[in-house]
Amino acid sequence: MNRKRVVVAGLGDVGILVAIRLARHADVVGISVKPALVSGQELGLRLSRPEDWARDYWIPFDNFRRLDAVRRVQATLTGVDLATRTVIGRGEDGATITEEYDALVISTGVSNGFWRRPTLQSAVEISADLRATHERLAAANSVIVVGGGAAAVSSAFNMATTWPDKRIDLYFPGERALGEYHPRTWNRIQGRLTDLGVGLHPGHRAVISNGSAGEEISSEPVQWSTGQPPAAAEAVLWAIGRVRPNTDWLPAELLDEHGFVRVTPELKVPGHHGVYAVGDVAASDPLRSSARNRGDALVTRNIRAEFAGRRLRTYRTPGRRWGSLVGIQADGLEVFLPTGQAFRLPSWSVERLVMPFVVRWGMYRGVRENHPLRTS
Ligand SMILES: Cc1cc2nc3c(=O)[nH]c(=O)nc-3n(C[C@H](O)[C@H](O)[C@H](O)COP(=O)(O)OP(=O)(O)OC[C@H]3O[C@@H](n4cnc5c(N)ncnc54)[C@H](O)[C@@H]3O)c2cc1C
Repeated sequence: MNRKRVVVAGLGDVGILVAIRLARHADVVGISVKPALVSGQELGLRLSRPEDWARDYWIPFDNFRRLDAVRRVQATLTGVDLATRTVIGRGEDGATITEEYDALVISTGVSNGFWRRPTLQSAVEISADLRATHERLAAANSVIVVGGGAAAVSSAFNMATTWPDKRIDLYFPGERALGEYHPRTWNRIQGRLTDLGVGLHPGHRAVISNGSAGEEISSEPVQWSTGQPPAAAEAVLWAIGRVRPNTDWLPAELLDEHGFVRVTPELKVPGHHGVYAVGDVAASDPLRSSARNRGDALVTRNIRAEFAGRRLRTYRTPGRRWGSLVGIQADGLEVFLPTGQAFRLPSWSVERLVMPFVVRWGMYRGVRENHPLRTS
């Protein structure tokens, strides 16, 4: 039988799952700027305990057993020709690459701060980046975290648990942080931050004085447009949620007014057969939450259904953010539900059951163990 060809554009948290799921049903080509899954998740853990983070969130593509059957191309996508069904990119050596598709999955995600950038990088460069940021924060006696979302809260929390002697302050604009979660989630996390000695400063909106705020850790005092005196620390971490969709390689007709990819409830790009978008880049719902709500499974299923002439299914979202907020801790993994309730998986179960069986086998279908952070 004539196998269809699927191009997965962007192999991040979602693209990799789509590629893994489709590998047995189509000829899959995965195009990405990194040679590995370098997840944007769990910023706090990444900054404070990079080796722990890397074990689960920075995994070379070669380690995923199911990706053995997927042709991977390390390149920056620069364009797509929808008429001839071809994506165009630029490889490491600057040469142009083209890949034809029967179905295209757009999963190029968003850029955010210094930790999510669509830059071509080798494993050595990824490792150097990770270590440099960790060392910069480790050396600071005091840290200000600016921002009220999950990345800011998780950073303050994890730095406080890793470095109990450091002065850590979290500044956020609203009365409460984690505004996109159920209010009970913040109530619970707030108590834990206070117990850890993190200074909480609601009602502070930072002045973003230059274009690079949020892109690098800075050390200048932070000014507030809400009238308070400036605040200073040896390191200022900006986690202000200025996400930008990685869509400059796509024609404007595919995008909404904010630059995200317009999709139907089936996660299809309207008006184009076989073109799908999923993950943070897809304007699936106001929170753009298809990554954590099994959008990978839906897109995989719908692509197979479209090839076979079957009916497509539609996407559903719980309408509030949910999931892990501060990552795996010594006392286990806490998961916050859309209802604001939380449950904790004890650390033995995370280490011995959830990560090896649910994530590495169930989700990724097998991951080899060797890791560049331990060998570099
Ligand atoms: C199973 C699962 C569980 C989750 N659980 C949680 C949770 O508990 N808590 C939580 O907060 N969130 C969770 N999330 C969601 C997470 O916060 C983000 O939504 C997710 O990381 C977004 O994934 P993405 O693939 O859309 O983007 P990314 O992971 O950023 O992937 C995009 C990839 O495309 C590459 N790229 C970009 N532009 C180009 C280009 N021009 N050329 C080539 N490559 C390019 C990028 O470098 C990157 O590698 C979960 C997600 C998943 C899949």
